[in-house]
This record gives sequence, C-alpha cells and structure tokens, in this order.
Amino acid sequence: MLGEFELIRRFFQSPETAPGVVVGIGDDAAVLRVPDGCDLVAAVDTLVESRHFPAGSDPRSIGHRALAVNLSDLAAMGAEPAWATLALTLPSADAAWLEGFASGLRTLARRHGVTLVGGDTTRGPLTISIQIMGFVPRGAALLRGGARAGDLLAVTGTLGDAGAGLALVQAGAAAQVPELVRRFEYPTPRVEMGLAARGIATAAMDLSDGIVGDLEKLAAASGLAAQVDVDRLPLSAALVSYATAAQARDWALGAGDDYELLFAVPAARAAALADAAAALDLRLTVIGELAHGRGVTWSSKGAKFAPAVGGFDHFA
Ligand code: ADP
Ligand code: MG
Repeated sequence: MLGEFELIRRFFQSPETAPGVVVGIGDDAAVLRVPDGCDLVAAVDTLVESRHFPAGSDPRSIGHRALAVNLSDLAAMGAEPAWATLALTLPSADAAWLEGFASGLRTLARRHGVTLVGGDTTRGPLTISIQIMGFVPRGAALLRGGARAGDLLAVTGTLGDAGAGLALVQAGAAAQVPELVRRFEYPTPRVEMGLAARGIATAAMDLSDGIVGDLEKLAAASGLAAQVDVDRLPLSAALVSYATAAQARDWALGAGDDYELLFAVPAARAAALADAAAALDLRLTVIGELAHGRGVTWSSKGAKFAPAVGGFDHFA
C-alpha cells in the first residue's frame, strides 16, 4: 500500500534544483524568489472527474490537462511560467494511475520549465487543483481590459476541435477522429505566443469556455462592443470533414476547451502579431473588431447572426 509521503516522494518530488526555488517540496511551504523587476502572476484551475473530463479518462491526459489549463491562463497574461503547486484528491493511491498522471504532468511541466514546488494530497472524489505562478516584466501583463476602439480581434489555432473531441469520447467513438480527441485530451497551451504578444496586443484572454461567452468578457472588461463574422472562425480540416457546417460552427462558438488565445490588436500592429504567430508555426485569424459601445454582435454573410449556443457556465 502506497502511503501519502511515499506517494509524494515517488511521483512528485524532483531532486533537481530550479531557478528561484529557495525551498521546494518537503517543508511546510515553498519559499520562492521572484526575479527583480518582475510581477508575480498566479492562477489556479481545478479539474473534477465527470465534470471536466469523463470518468475513466487516461490519467496521462488528466495530468497534462490539469497543467495545460493553468499554463493557458499564464499564456493569456503574457507571463512566463515558473512554478506550480498541486492539490490532489484521490479516491485511492493507485500506483499505475499515479504513474500515468505524474508522467503527463511532468512531460508538459518540463516542456515549459515549470517546477512543482508543493501541494497537498487527500483522499476523496478525484479532483485536481493546480496553482501556477510565473512572471512578467513589471507592468507588462496582457489584460482583458486593455483593448481600444478600432482594435482587431484575432484568435490562434482552430476552434471547436476539443468540443468535437469530447463528443466523440462521450459517444464511445474516439477512434473515429483521433486528432479531434487529441485536441480535447492534450490541449496545447499557447505560452510562447502569449509571450510574443506582449507589447503588440492590447488585450488577451484564453478561450476555455467557448468564444461566445469569453469574448463578452473581454469586450466588457475593455468597455467596448465587439463585432465578429462567424464565417471567419478558424476551423480545422479534421473538424470540417467530420461535422456538418452548423455543428462545427456551434462547437467553435460554444464548446470551449480549445485553449486558444484571443487577442485585441491595433490594426497598425496586426502584421507584427501575425509575424509572431508565423514564427511559431501557429495559425492566427482576424475574426472581427472592437468599437465604442457594448455587447457582442455576430454576423454571417452580411446578416445578423444569433448563436444557438451560450458560453459554458457551471452555475447557469
Ligand atoms: P503539511 O501537513 O505541513 O501541510 P504535507 O504533509 O501536506 O505538509 O506535505 C508535505 C510536503 O509535500 C509539503 O512540502 C507539500 O507542499 C508537499 N506535497 C504534498 N502533496 C503534494 C503533491 N500532491 N504534489 C506536490 N507536493 C506535495
Ligand atoms: Mg499540507
């Protein structure tokens, strides 16, 4: 039987030292040193079994997603990730499950230079909370509220894939379009793009809950109105060939879980943002613009369009 301390030592403690980690796992709390001239950027996101991922999901995917959704929040701030803490609630200490989970988490953490500096381990329904911390040069964080009237709206990657992927999993048809399922199980946080957008974009957020709801938040935070042409929403070839046009559009608008970035950028700097994305081999698509006023207006082929889907809200 795997005890709590053995579990932490075996799966989460790393012998390596890391920049800024004065005291890591093993004491009552971590001691961390923020580089001079930087702001600390912190976020926390929780995944609950059967709510954020289907029961019985591959533990490697759960470990990856738990960190990816947090990295995505730092990406949206233009922050460089550094440290994380992990609050893990497990029904049992299953070594095979923990091995997969820790490996999914560790692989993504290494890719982004993130060090696990502490956490908490308890027994209960499977729930994973990760708190992530990172830095931006003082005052340089990309906020939701920085957009100006006339700014263009641009999104990275493609939208709707993760929604389709989850639907495939739920239908027991994951093998049908593995690349869509992969977009749900192993989302790619756009960390490098968030960093590159600093000083170019005026506002940013990540698309976790579907652009219908998320864009409303950015527009409201900036005190502006948004206009978007739904026909410009970037769709992957895999989604277009799998779904009907209407279904693909609904997933792109409302499903969330894609963890792409939404930027506001002045027209004069749009080419610079496009160059930054191209340098990262990342698609960037202008989908609309911001203007004085409030609310989000959607259009299709020159006519007003009413999305059939809303953004995701746990308590709606
Ligand atoms: P305390 O009871 O003083 O809070 P714990 O026994 O909970 O300490 O944890 C011991 C050490 O292990 C602490 O440094 C804590 O941050 C770390 N830790 C506990 N659980 C995890 C976990 N799931 N991942 C990473 N570190 C953990
Ligand atoms: Mg504790």
